[in-house]
Amino acid sequence: MSNAKILVIDDEIGICEGIQRALVPEGYCVDITFDGEAGLQKIRENSYDLVLIDVMMPGVNGIDLIASIHAHDPETVCVMITGYATVELAVRAIKEGAYDFLSKPFSVDDLLLAVAQGIERRRLSLDAKRAQAAVAEAHRLEEEKNRLEELDRAKRQFIRLVTHDLQAPVSAIENYLKLIQQGYVPLEDQPEIIAKCLARTQEEIDLLADLLELGHLEVIETFKVTEVRLDEILHAVMDGFQGQMAQKNIQFEIEAGEDIPVVIAAPEQIKSLWRNLISNAIKYTPENGRVAARLYVKGGSLIGEVSDTGIGIPPDEQERLFSEFFRAKNTKEMDVPGTGLGLVIIKRIVEGMGGEITVESEPGCGSTFRFAIPVQGG
Ligand code: ADP
Repeated sequence: MSNAKILVIDDEIGICEGIQRALVPEGYCVDITFDGEAGLQKIRENSYDLVLIDVMMPGVNGIDLIASIHAHDPETVCVMITGYATVELAVRAIKEGAYDFLSKPFSVDDLLLAVAQGIERRRLSLDAKRAQAAVAEAHRLEEEKNRLEELDRAKRQFIRLVTHDLQAPVSAIENYLKLIQQGYVPLEDQPEIIAKCLARTQEEIDLLADLLELGHLEVIETFKVTEVRLDEILHAVMDGFQGQMAQKNIQFEIEAGEDIPVVIAAPEQIKSLWRNLISNAIKYTPENGRVAARLYVKGGSLIGEVSDTGIGIPPDEQERLFSEFFRAKNTKEMDVPGTGLGLVIIKRIVEGMGGEITVESEPGCGSTFRFAIPVQGG
């Protein structure tokens, strides 16, 4: 016994009722309807396992209904009823997705066989679909598990590195102070030791500031977004670096068109984005160099660029630039203080706005950091 739901669409009442009489005793639930439009309406309201469709009905060709039936449920089995089974017709119906044919006149046994086979076919394809979905879900869970494990590993490594980097300046300061306390440093040498202590203190302060900013970036609600003009913030940030640039005799230029659109963003994040990019450009550019910032619209994105004529980044290290605490070898040789967190902050800010950051660089020639953020209506 099957309790499968079946719909018959045929303009001949006799055929509809005959089919109903044959199928109901077998346990099938059978609805009948006499035209295509009413049939589609019923299909939209109910779910049928199998539909028996007359090919020739006044005003409609049954074959044309198959696509609409499958749009509702691709696994509904369509069996065509036809008075004249030609090869051409069969090919067309199969192409449209019909499963079988019943040629009039057909016996009850023919009908029961076609229906039973159709229902079996539906059961098998639903089972296959469920199995496929289960495999896909298992795959997704496996990937999610790997992602979480990777995240956990990265987090533990981050904590290890933070602890180390926070401890190093404090230990150094402690050692310098002990030397003074124990009388090992003559009075005239003490200013130098104090200057070293202050430099290490500044390192600690910078690191704590970056860590704090990274922590804030994790909590989206910390930032109030509003309409922001990136060019205005760029000019303001630049002004703050005039002293540093003058000290190194670095030439600076800003290029921003008149048509820079506003973006919806947190002003302090945009400030931090420019500040980190420009401070790196100045830090890693020797005296008498050049730093340039550009802002323009391209292909629906607002592009910001900061270029310099500095030390550049070795190609094999560029991929790791945006990882926590990473500092390139040539940077370490230059003995410029840094936390290795600025680019991580930049990446989070840009990606938080749905954009991306890239770098082009040649050692000894300079670097260009470029961010692209989508603009509304772009
Ligand atoms: P840091 O505090 O070390 O500057 P960042 O995360 O801002 O940390 O940068 C990471 C590393 O990327 C730097 O240590 C440096 O090696 C490299 N880098 C960043 N910007 C530049 C640049 N403009 N020119 C050359 N190297 C750069």
